[in-house]
Amino acid sequence: MLKFRHILPILFLLSSFFFPLRSTRAQESSGPIYIVQPGDSLYSIAARFSVSLDELLAVNGIVDPNTLAAGQQLIIPGLEGITGIFDTRFINFGDSHRSLMRQTQVPDDLFRRLNHVVSPSEFYVGANMIVPIQDQAQYSKRVSPAVGESLLELAVKNNTDIWTLSSINQMAGSWAGLPGDTLYVTGEDTGNNASGLPSAFISAEIRDLPIKQGGTGVIKVMTQPGVTLGGGLVDRPLHFFPDQDGVQTALQGVHALLDPGVYPLRLDATLPDGSKQSYEQLVLVVSGNYPSGEVIPQPQSFIDPTITEPELKLLEAITITSQPTPTKYWVGQFISPAIAYAESTYFTSRYGTRRTYVSQEMNFTVQGFHTGLDFGGGDGLPITAPASGTVVFAGPWTVRGNATVIDHGWGVYSGFWHQSEIQVQVGQAVSKGDVIGLVGGTGRVTGAHLHWELWVKGIQVDPLDWLNQSYP
Ligand SMILES: [Zn+2]
Repeated sequence: MLKFRHILPILFLLSSFFFPLRSTRAQESSGPIYIVQPGDSLYSIAARFSVSLDELLAVNGIVDPNTLAAGQQLIIPGLEGITGIFDTRFINFGDSHRSLMRQTQVPDDLFRRLNHVVSPSEFYVGANMIVPIQDQAQYSKRVSPAVGESLLELAVKNNTDIWTLSSINQMAGSWAGLPGDTLYVTGEDTGNNASGLPSAFISAEIRDLPIKQGGTGVIKVMTQPGVTLGGGLVDRPLHFFPDQDGVQTALQGVHALLDPGVYPLRLDATLPDGSKQSYEQLVLVVSGNYPSGEVIPQPQSFIDPTITEPELKLLEAITITSQPTPTKYWVGQFISPAIAYAESTYFTSRYGTRRTYVSQEMNFTVQGFHTGLDFGGGDGLPITAPASGTVVFAGPWTVRGNATVIDHGWGVYSGFWHQSEIQVQVGQAVSKGDVIGLVGGTGRVTGAHLHWELWVKGIQVDPLDWLNQSYP
């Protein structure tokens, strides 16, 4: 470790020699540059770099703090000796502190100083790290020594030499490579190299980081041939299905009321010979920023758990299955089920809104959240299938009224409640845009409206995500 400390400042000095223009400009403006990211505020940037807001405003000549825009360049004061441009990136599955240092060539002490990292446990999936751009000194091709393979052999195989390999990977000597360790070499990443994961895995990626409450986790994994995948996210088992280009994909909803924090994501591989390999890393779940404070007075019988629980159990029996339908019936984005009559943005209540149901006698309350999306528009208007699938439930329920559930495959289900008329039958195949029923006010509602909810592997997720982008 002692040798590391001598080598690192030299590497950093060298990298700043390569880009004298940028260094000079940054010195003139007395500080490194941070590029404002979507969702940043001046307060969050000041907090992130432990500088005062006044100082940040002064050094950048900002008079009106409300003018901040994504992409804007800000000088960060108070970081003596540091120049250049700061990039940010989310930690993905398989990234470790060591592999990121090797890939980006950022000196460890600088990285820790900028990110206030004190322990490897802070290196969870979805964490956003500041990474000073080192320009050409970025390496994207990952390699990994096999059991019994020397660094010299690995270097030759990758058209490099052992000194370059040791230097790029900040290794004290040629003895420092371990089987399965992630190393970087110059050249294009072919996608077939080690990923910091056990040897059964070629790559693993989580889409849309960080995962939010009420969001849909998308986990895409490439493995060696013949590997069967399983695993878990938070407290739910993962089911993988073959997707395009040899990728296996799992979708998993994250509960709207799950406390923001870090939770385990585990991948289990079973190899053709029956042996098993697992990898687990913590994943950040952030707030969905759902509105709070909808208070809904209702007759006590509407919210009495002795009435609502048995029906919820019936719904869960349909949507929580150990054997999700392996066919993916949907293609691309979902469409609004109210497309025939309402503007796609005409929502009367959004998913995730925190709700307090209060009995009209005011002696009974239930805390919850809105599990779907409510559309404006009244009795008798047509409801259309948001995506293709098979009808797995159609019938009257006490709380949800005339209800239809469509199985879209891969553990994804749509539910439509309170209909005045159901126009499909169990077992029927429906296509995107087919009329499946009519809006109504059946069940425990105060007025006619369409409630649409989307279940992903046993958890209701935000349907708007599925209207705005295509999964997986
Ligand atoms: Zn609703």
